[in-house]
Amino acid sequence: MNADPHLADLPGAVIHDEIVPARAPWLHHIAAGQTLRIIDLEGNQAVDFLLYSAEDDAERYSAQDTVSAQGNLFLRSGTILRSNEGRPMMTIAATSVAYHDTIGGACSCESNTLRYGHHTKAQHACVENFLEANLTEGRGKRDIVSNINFFMNVPVEQDGSLGIVDGISAPGLSVDLHAEMDVIVVVSNCPQINNPCNGFNPTPVRMIVAA
Ligand SMILES: [Zn+2]
Repeated sequence: MNADPHLADLPGAVIHDEIVPARAPWLHHIAAGQTLRIIDLEGNQAVDFLLYSAEDDAERYSAQDTVSAQGNLFLRSGTILRSNEGRPMMTIAATSVAYHDTIGGACSCESNTLRYGHHTKAQHACVENFLEANLTEGRGKRDIVSNINFFMNVPVEQDGSLGIVDGISAPGLSVDLHAEMDVIVVVSNCPQINNPCNGFNPTPVRMIVAA
């Protein structure tokens, strides 16, 4: 018997299992009590991540509330992802990566041209993925607020400066998110090719929901 190692130690039966292709958006509703496992299949793939309350999408993930409540900039096992109303939305139940980022933001066509030159203007970016997914439920530009970058390494130096450096993730590493309320998860499997956040090579990720 060849057991799938990506299914090990899930807290319930698998109710959804999907591969998100490189560069693609993804949207999924996850009920309170369910667990979303995100697997970095090939390593060093940033998964840009937004979170809304399914009951009222004006309540959404807040990096500021999350960071200030835990008194730490990095997202690790045990981190509670909090809303702009301070309520727990999801908990990082487990992760095989040391920490995840929530300060680096999401790439856009505009930020690409500023950082990397006008020739990058036509390159697909995370903000466009977020818009594409959110528009299917009537959310638009004003709904794109602070995000998480799972599997992305944004170290903070002594003087407060930020890096976007080689990832600390590796093939097969994962993060398990336990839903504390009914949530809408919106993901951009980051298409960035101008910095090391995806190892200059965007790759697929796997989404498994257990209930
Ligand atoms: Zn991106």
